[in-house]
Amino acid sequence: MMKQTHNATIEKARSTAELSHEELVELLNLPQQQLPSLMAAADEVRQRTVGNQVHLRGIIEFSNYCRQHCCYCGLRANNNDIDRYRLTPEQILDTARTATQAGYRTLVLQSGEDPLFSPKTIAELTAEIKKMGVAVTLSCGERSYETYQLWREAGADRYLIKQETADPALYKCIRPGHTLQERLQCQHWLKDLGYQVGSGCMIGLPGQTVETLARDLQLMKEMHIDMSGMGPFIPHPKTPLHLGCTGSIFLTLKMLAVARLYMPWLLLPATTALASLHPEGRELALRAGANVIMPNVSPEEFRSLYQIYPGKLNHHDSITDYFNRIKQLIEKEGRSVAIDLGHSFLPSFHQ
Ligand code: SAM
Ligand code: SF4
Repeated sequence: MMKQTHNATIEKARSTAELSHEELVELLNLPQQQLPSLMAAADEVRQRTVGNQVHLRGIIEFSNYCRQHCCYCGLRANNNDIDRYRLTPEQILDTARTATQAGYRTLVLQSGEDPLFSPKTIAELTAEIKKMGVAVTLSCGERSYETYQLWREAGADRYLIKQETADPALYKCIRPGHTLQERLQCQHWLKDLGYQVGSGCMIGLPGQTVETLARDLQLMKEMHIDMSGMGPFIPHPKTPLHLGCTGSIFLTLKMLAVARLYMPWLLLPATTALASLHPEGRELALRAGANVIMPNVSPEEFRSLYQIYPGKLNHHDSITDYFNRIKQLIEKEGRSVAIDLGHSFLPSFHQ
């Protein structure tokens, strides 16, 4: 009896993205034996709406200095037990050139909130990388409207700034001194400036419920988010949340599948956090509705230092070898690597 009800909601989600809060909660509460049906529905919707292509975003983690004190993150300012580094502008541009030659069509510049990288320097780097013919995503935290404007004018196409959690009280606890409202204000500014905006949340934060996760999806839909990075929370020993439990792979796959059903246009990454917890994390995510992978293209000597959580997936391949390895993984799944710039599907969805 129970099983039939669940199937009915999966069937509904397969044909319409109009799902209520209660239906989202029901899907997120599905038992393990229903996961294959949920993933199959999400995979079908993914294929029908955004196609078979997987978009690769090469991520350059250019600084692990950060002025913030997020309770979940190993890069937080007062973690003294971490080797800090900054790439030079030349190192960033060399990396970008190599990644472009390897085949990447989007490069992501990500960092902690590092005050020593001035807005002007990041604007100049953006403009130089744009000349290489790729799309540029920035992910450098909360900045002023004027800074976002400067970077947009320099050519940045996208900005990744996750809501982290849609629960305002939990948000305040995990980002002391900040509010969810401020984070959403940044997303509004970015949308106003014409950026494609990436959001997302961590799955398995202490105090988080399935109702909160359903609300996370609703908030992303309300904000007209173009991309959503959702990965398991992984507790870092040198943070206030070190006693938390690692987020569930099962719940993460359900979140990906439900996100695909509820927001079919999404660019949905198979996150590194999921791949760090499961040897086939990327493949599983691709089967649950994901259509983006963000391989690390930072210079090898710095890759292991961007320790936002312990056990973060690392590799020792050259940028080109790793691109080819990920391409093979994608083709083994019966999918192909996108060769276009991989812009948002949202505008075509609302035509
Ligand atoms: N500083 C920028 C920001 O906070 O938006 C970008 C870099 S930050 C390291 C990128 C993302 O890492 C965050 O949005 C957060 O979701 C994720 N993250 C940080 N600590 C994590 C943890 N312990 N487990 C899982 N994800 C984590
Ligand atoms: Fe800094 Fe981002 Fe980590 Fe927060 S999540 S401490 S802003 S790097």
